[in-house]
Amino acid sequence: MLRVFITIDTEFWPRKEYRVADDYIDDFQRDIHGRTPEGDFGLTFQLEMLRRFDLRAVCLVEALHPYAVGHEPLKEIVELVLDGGHDVQLHLHTEWLNWMSKSLLPGRSGQNMHDFSLDEQSLLIASGLAAMKECGAGRICAFRAGNYGADNQTLQALAQNDILYDTSHNTAYLDSTCRIQTEEVPLQPGRLDGVLEVPISFFRDFRKCRHAQFQACSSSELEYALLEAWKKGWESFVIVSHSFELIRRGDANRPSRPDPIVLRRFERFCHFLSENRDKFETCTFADLPKFNDSRDSDSTPIRMKPFYTCGRIFEQLRRRMMGPAK
Ligand SMILES: [Zn+2]
Repeated sequence: MLRVFITIDTEFWPRKEYRVADDYIDDFQRDIHGRTPEGDFGLTFQLEMLRRFDLRAVCLVEALHPYAVGHEPLKEIVELVLDGGHDVQLHLHTEWLNWMSKSLLPGRSGQNMHDFSLDEQSLLIASGLAAMKECGAGRICAFRAGNYGADNQTLQALAQNDILYDTSHNTAYLDSTCRIQTEEVPLQPGRLDGVLEVPISFFRDFRKCRHAQFQACSSSELEYALLEAWKKGWESFVIVSHSFELIRRGDANRPSRPDPIVLRRFERFCHFLSENRDKFETCTFADLPKFNDSRDSDSTPIRMKPFYTCGRIFEQLRRRMMGPAK
């Protein structure tokens, strides 16, 4: 059995300065609920579809925003995820430090966790955990850094806060925001700096390395990658979504709207997993999965078939022609 982690980074972004208490609501509705004139295609929509196919998700929920806008939005998210039978875990975007009237780290700012020292990172993680507790989340045991922007000190800071799993490692982002250093490119979970690193899955196509994400990969690519991982005898496959993954986010002049191609990919992915339960099972970190470091499995990256990559390039062009991206 290949354990599939459907991870949904659950977060909202300030598009304007918040002057009064509920100024965040438009951003919350757009990014969390995926609100469009045609309906909601955000977190509730994704969790409900997963439930219909009897699949489970890991929602990595951003937890620094309560220090800028109060605890109500986080409470609502946590309740929504737990009521749906899914997993709540921790996600932090340090950009929120700039929006706090009383900063957790006065005078300090940065886009990524790795912009901060070990002690500062540890304080940010502890603050996120405190907000989660305040908002009714159960035991948090897993983490992903915003923008995949972790380094090895992040992992040490997680261990200091008794977090067992990290899923920030993104091979496709090693040249940019992700600064987790390893001896070899990690394809499967393994111990690193005091935690179990559960890397985001990726494949190599004829152009570059691409991580598994609904907005970035076609259905054929995702299904082929899953089957290859299963044939290789791997233990885990981590795919990325966002609470706003299925929409094109609008702005003051242009309403948000559903992204029909990504919507179709998401539904087809759910269908594929449910039709192949002999090979794949969705897993959460709350299950406290154990991984076998020394397991004898194929340790070469997945190579995508050029035919599928060409199909995806064509699909992405069609998406672009349908209107401006987020
Ligand atoms: Zn994020």
